[in-house]
Amino acid sequence: MTTQTPTALLEEITVAETEGRAVPDAATGETLGYAPVHTTDDLDAAVRAARAAQPAWAALGHERRSEMLRRAAEEVEARAEELAQVIAREQGKPLNGAGARFEAGGCAVWIRSAADTPLEPEVLFEAEGTRSELHYDPLGVVGAISPWNWPALIAIWQIAPALRMGNTVVAKPSEYTPLSVLAVVALMNRHLPEGVLTAVSGDREVGAALAGHEDVDKVMFTGSTRTGRAIVQSTAQNLARLTLELGGNDPGIVLPGTDVPAIAEQLFWGIFINTGQTCAALKRLYVHESVYDDVVTELARIAEATPLGAGTDENSALGPLTTAQQFEIVTELVEDARRRGARIVTGGEPAPELGPHFYRPTIVADIDDGAPLVDTEQFGPVVPVIKYSDVEDAVARANNSEQALGASVWGDPEQARRLAERIQSGTVWINQHGTLNPVVPFGGLKSSGYGLEFGVHGLKAVAAPKVITV
Ligand code: NAD
Repeated sequence: MTTQTPTALLEEITVAETEGRAVPDAATGETLGYAPVHTTDDLDAAVRAARAAQPAWAALGHERRSEMLRRAAEEVEARAEELAQVIAREQGKPLNGAGARFEAGGCAVWIRSAADTPLEPEVLFEAEGTRSELHYDPLGVVGAISPWNWPALIAIWQIAPALRMGNTVVAKPSEYTPLSVLAVVALMNRHLPEGVLTAVSGDREVGAALAGHEDVDKVMFTGSTRTGRAIVQSTAQNLARLTLELGGNDPGIVLPGTDVPAIAEQLFWGIFINTGQTCAALKRLYVHESVYDDVVTELARIAEATPLGAGTDENSALGPLTTAQQFEIVTELVEDARRRGARIVTGGEPAPELGPHFYRPTIVADIDDGAPLVDTEQFGPVVPVIKYSDVEDAVARANNSEQALGASVWGDPEQARRLAERIQSGTVWINQHGTLNPVVPFGGLKSSGYGLEFGVHGLKAVAAPKVITV
């Protein structure tokens, strides 16, 4: 059953065919709507407006700003179904499970969390008549540049804490998913003063211009490592502070003695959440030889039983790849693995009867480090399962990567806990992978970036620390 709630929200944010660019429905390739294509002149205007609005926004203080953000969260919640429909069609994730409804609801949850998290000045020293306090002031204008995989939610992760701390924000959505971001920003803007939050829907050049803009004080960037490097270069001029949430190639280790049927479902979704298009999804799985066949069989069984279809089909649990480029990357990585002699246990082919960018969930066995499917980020519905015989070796292989966003260990919690301490990664999950919490900080190491989002750490990341010594 396909539900497509007629969405007034979509009509509000799309423009006439002559004034914008067609945004395809990820499942069908048909035009979902036309998005404005903003230029660097539009960006300049948005930054000017943000600069002008910032002092008054900061002067409101935490309580008033948080009140407005809570109202914005209520608005997003009230229109969550419409927002979910836009996300499901534009990005392609299914409505149910950890899908589009979860993303739309998550936007409200993260806005509220940014509004509600306390951040008091800290007393650093107090003795002999001297007192030193650390205060967190606004930085000014924050540029928020986001990717296409969780378009609305990731934009909110950047926008909400920045606003809470008294900054104004110019958001630049991915050119592939502008509508989801324009939609959530339009909802928030019903409760925010003019100029405080603007979405500029432009191409990569607009992103580059935002990162290097002389009047931007901080850039929050989530996207590929390659673009992250370009952003570091852009900010050499304006010295904008940076939070970089970049690519991941998260390892998972399944220990000997693990009860495979007990973990299989959670393991599967740690890999296949959002059809594998998630920064902190499990992307290479190391399995002890004693349970290797069981893990491969269980994952293949679940893959074959999981319905693949359009995001708007209530029955779908997996959706299409969002873009033609990502579809090509995934196809080529699997073909390369096949040519190397790896075993395609299930999947390993597109599903053209469903639409142009559908790829069947794919389990690849008998593959090793050195294959591009293992060493690079596939960002799609395919996982390489690698056999190991020595746990020490598995830890070394897990750490042998440029990327270090997330990792997980599966099996005995005590042994897993000890190994977790030796895994180089922003987060290590035990018997789960990729679960996030608005009050628990999230961020990467190595080429996966730096800086933290969420909770009090996330608020500090969009603030200027200032010491007052009396
Ligand atoms: P991308 O780097 O291609 O694009 C991200 C954004 O950057 C887009 O808005 C794009 O227009 C903009 N951009 C492109 N070139 C730019 C430049 N030179 N200067 C400034 N902005 C520029 O990434 P993507 O393909 O949209 O997203 C997928 C990648 O994002 C994957 O690698 C994934 O792992 C990563 N990601 C990371 C996290 C995290 O939290 N660490 C979360 C989600 C996605």
